[in-house]
Amino acid sequence: MTSSPAVSPDHIMGVYNRAPLAVARGEGVRLWDENGQEYLDCVAGIATTGLGHCHPALVAALKDQGEKLWHVSNIFRIPGQEALAKRLTDASFADVVFFTNSGTEAIECALKTARKYQTAVGKPERIDIIGFDGSFHGRSYGAINAAGNPNYVEGFGPRLPGYVQVTWGDKEALKAAIEAPSACAVIIEPVQGEGGARAMSEADLEELRGWTRDNGVLLIYDEVQSGMGRTGKLWAHEWANDAAPDIMAVAKALGGGFPVGACLASAEAARGMTVGVHGSTFGGNPLAMAVGVAAFDEINKPETLENARTVAGYFTQQLSGLRDRYPDVIVDVRGKGLLIGLKLIPNNRDFMAMARDQHLLVAGGGDNCVRLLPSLLITQDEAREAIAKLEQTCEAVRKKAAA
Ligand SMILES: *Cc1c(COP(=O)(O)O)cnc(C)c1O
Repeated sequence: MTSSPAVSPDHIMGVYNRAPLAVARGEGVRLWDENGQEYLDCVAGIATTGLGHCHPALVAALKDQGEKLWHVSNIFRIPGQEALAKRLTDASFADVVFFTNSGTEAIECALKTARKYQTAVGKPERIDIIGFDGSFHGRSYGAINAAGNPNYVEGFGPRLPGYVQVTWGDKEALKAAIEAPSACAVIIEPVQGEGGARAMSEADLEELRGWTRDNGVLLIYDEVQSGMGRTGKLWAHEWANDAAPDIMAVAKALGGGFPVGACLASAEAARGMTVGVHGSTFGGNPLAMAVGVAAFDEINKPETLENARTVAGYFTQQLSGLRDRYPDVIVDVRGKGLLIGLKLIPNNRDFMAMARDQHLLVAGGGDNCVRLLPSLLITQDEAREAIAKLEQTCEAVRKKAAA
């Protein structure tokens, strides 16, 4: 027998590599630690506090609902669910919504909806979920198998049957997988988040939509990170024409920091989701829905989306300048809207720590990227401040390399 590892002093399961920063308070794009140190936050809970920290409309909705009703079971009608579902379906391809508490659960519902559809149309042999390298769909068994990232599936027992992985860009393999008689659905992030802010081209999404449609295969978008205004449109796939999916998973910014997720589907794609086949205790409870409605109404304002596009344009231009001046630090600026990735020469974890020394918080990402995912309401002045701190970080990287 091996000896037991020491018990972690914080009693938290050690699955995160945490920054040594104890966050105490937030407002807009600012965070303060327990010692009162101020930080400019370009992580936003990984694109989750899409309206910044403690947005007044969300705080008001939470307080108001907190005094009325927190929770009832889904065995009752929940008016807040109907209100948010109306907003989501009015503003998308979808006809129906299932509410969850997280992105992973929204993905899980999407995968189950797709398989049930194929069963409902008499094709139960269609089980293959076709996913892509570099993708991330969450941490449930379904989600890790769909994304296929070896770091997340290995050591957890056998991989699940019915998951096929394709390399993005290998169109022949993709087409073959879609044409296979066992194909059920394709799942894709229109802009990969964790994978390193990799945006799929609009033409590729349109082509994928055509292939899936022609072969009786469903198209699932994972817009958990790219949706809710992150790219400057409500949904990232709206940048493409005629590329609407059959099913879509949404979460992160949907609740503005309150745990809310949703699986959206067309009536056709949801035809297998009948009474009793799926459910959730907490999903769509009144408290979550009150905050979700408030967040949706703020994010879906034309001026919010307009701001995201404008400041994103400023960021892209300034970051390209930084890349030109610091080619020894930044090799690529990528992503879409305010889902921005910087591919780095120095280790991205080291860069994040050095940015933190400048009181700037950025997120990590695959392919040695850091991501900037600020509030959609970030002002141009705040963006300028972020750029200045990034420039100081690049200088610090250079000094360290020369030392
Ligand atoms: C964060 C994320 C998920 C998982 O969401 P959780 O709320 O952490 O379960 C799924 N897909 C994408 C694209 C994400 O960014």
